[in-house]
Amino acid sequence: MAKKQFKTESKRLLDLMINSIYTHKEIFLRELISNASDATDKFYFNAMRSGDSGLTREQLPITLTIDRENRRLTISDCGCGMTAEELESNLGTIARSGSLAFKQEMKSQEGESAEDIDIIGQFGVGFYAAFMVAKDVKVVTRTADGACACWESSGDDGYTISDADRAERGTDIILTIKDNTDTEQYDEYLEQFRLQSIVKKYSDYIRYPIRMEMTHSRVKEGTGTDDKPAEYEDYTTLDTLNSMIPIWKKSKKELTDDDYNHFYKSKFFDYEDALLHIHTSTEGAATYHALLFVPARAPFDYYTKDYEKGLQLYSNGVLIMDKCADLLPDHFSFVRGLVDSADLSLNISRELLQHDRHLKVIASSLEKKIKSELLHLQKNEREKYETFFRAFGRQLKYGAYVNYGAHKDMLMDLLLYYSSTEGKLVTLEEYVSRMQEGQTDIYYACGENVAKIEALPRFEQLRDKGYEVLCLTDDIDEFCVKMMASYQGKTFKSITESDLDLETEEEKEQLRKLGEENESVLKAVKDALGDKVKKVQLTGQLKSHACCMTTEGGLSLEMEKVLRAQNGGDAQMRAERVLELNPEHAIFAKLKSLQESGDTATIATYATILYDQALLIEGMPIDDPGAYANAVCSLLV
Ligand code: ADP
Ligand code: MG
Repeated sequence: MAKKQFKTESKRLLDLMINSIYTHKEIFLRELISNASDATDKFYFNAMRSGDSGLTREQLPITLTIDRENRRLTISDCGCGMTAEELESNLGTIARSGSLAFKQEMKSQEGESAEDIDIIGQFGVGFYAAFMVAKDVKVVTRTADGACACWESSGDDGYTISDADRAERGTDIILTIKDNTDTEQYDEYLEQFRLQSIVKKYSDYIRYPIRMEMTHSRVKEGTGTDDKPAEYEDYTTLDTLNSMIPIWKKSKKELTDDDYNHFYKSKFFDYEDALLHIHTSTEGAATYHALLFVPARAPFDYYTKDYEKGLQLYSNGVLIMDKCADLLPDHFSFVRGLVDSADLSLNISRELLQHDRHLKVIASSLEKKIKSELLHLQKNEREKYETFFRAFGRQLKYGAYVNYGAHKDMLMDLLLYYSSTEGKLVTLEEYVSRMQEGQTDIYYACGENVAKIEALPRFEQLRDKGYEVLCLTDDIDEFCVKMMASYQGKTFKSITESDLDLETEEEKEQLRKLGEENESVLKAVKDALGDKVKKVQLTGQLKSHACCMTTEGGLSLEMEKVLRAQNGGDAQMRAERVLELNPEHAIFAKLKSLQESGDTATIATYATILYDQALLIEGMPIDDPGAYANAVCSLLV
């Protein structure tokens, strides 16, 4: 059977192109400027090849001209132009890309070195975006050999190609902008400031100057004085709208800190210099350039749902996406910046394909890079790192905690905690390197602030024995530490856990004996407290304090406190309390004598007071402050 060619309903196809590929009408300008840039590249590239090295990109501008009266917007370039045949095949055939063909030919001739040319076109449809805003499009063009031609169409009724005259090499794309409708304002595409901002947004890094004559207004000379009211006059300037040079493609050696900071502040609207910049380029599994910044402080909405993470994504210098969230893991969501890669698979509207393999590769390589740069800062500029950590440490801790600690290995080395012995923030690695002989655990204590932690009854003994304790003062801290479980094989251990194993075997044995001897006292106290505590026991770990509260099981008092606060003050989860008494304290002697005289009522009063006090020392609320006050008073009188 003879094969047949598909017939296309060109009119329908064009209609589809025009009305369903793009989400924003404004991108017509991005497409036409990209084409102008491609055409200029082709000319420039050929000129270079034939040895005309005196030519600079500066000399090959792309110009926008507004003619409001006739509703015309013209995009002109000094590129390679097109012959009548090329007009026919490039613009008369939907989905034919002369630019892609050019790039492929260059590649086959020049090999990989042709990678350097940033040809943007590839789908052969961008040009038709012009019909989203124009009722008529006219192309007047002249090639380097002097062949001129004109292509014109109003979209749905086909196109004409005719002879034309153009004085110089290059192409004019002349759009007659549509009239406003009830729902669409097309006039805006004839406004200089609107066009300027569209260029800035999508085409800022096109490597040829994009120029537009801008009209401004000023007070006429000699007017606006005491006796002459101000009169105004227009004047025009020829402005270059784009910054042209993507600084991330320059070599690091060429750039100063000032260059980076200037770029950062103007691009990301910060008034402060960035704390850190990361400039990196990679070739291999994915070829990309990236320029990343860590701000000096958290944006005001950083810890809210409103904050949107993401990096700008460019393909060949053309903006594809403003906030590409997939490029940043949540724990590094504070990073700002951009990625430029020619490897991305785009769909024909030049949007990113959702499951782009390269994107994943880039994201994971950036994550590693960010971590290593932060570690570098931590080792070499500690003060700066602490500033960073104060701003974003909570995010890192949160990152180590979420998803059952899936990212903890990535993040643990970046964490800082206040050390009781060093009196400053330290890393876990530093803690472990200082651990005492025989010490197997990393000791930590939680509290509202360091002073409160240092006042904890259990703290005394650790301090006397010279142990370093990490003081955790953030809500998230203990949850995070429990999720991390251990660091370099050392388990995190709260100093308020009841089985903190600090005593020698001898001391333990002595304590056990003492417990047996005083079993009846301990039982009387436990009976008085009932379900409030799981256990009442003696401890060798208190010095000046009479008692303290420790816990058993996974939930600590500090965690109960946080959960309670999240739950509007109600404790749905209760830590298992262990009341520990100091056998050396005068109060314990008193309890013993009460027990001997059989005064269970007074023992009960003592027990509730000790229980409440132990909670107060831990910074926990007590159930009934009134009852507590009365109990104390009954003993005072
Ligand atoms: P693409 O840019 O993806 O190739 P377009 O539809 O935007 O597709 O353009 C189709 C083709 O028309 C281009 O590949 C190029 O060959 C040609 N073309 C478009 N604009 C110009 C121009 N300003 N100068 C020279 N050739 C152009
Ligand atoms: Mg194009």
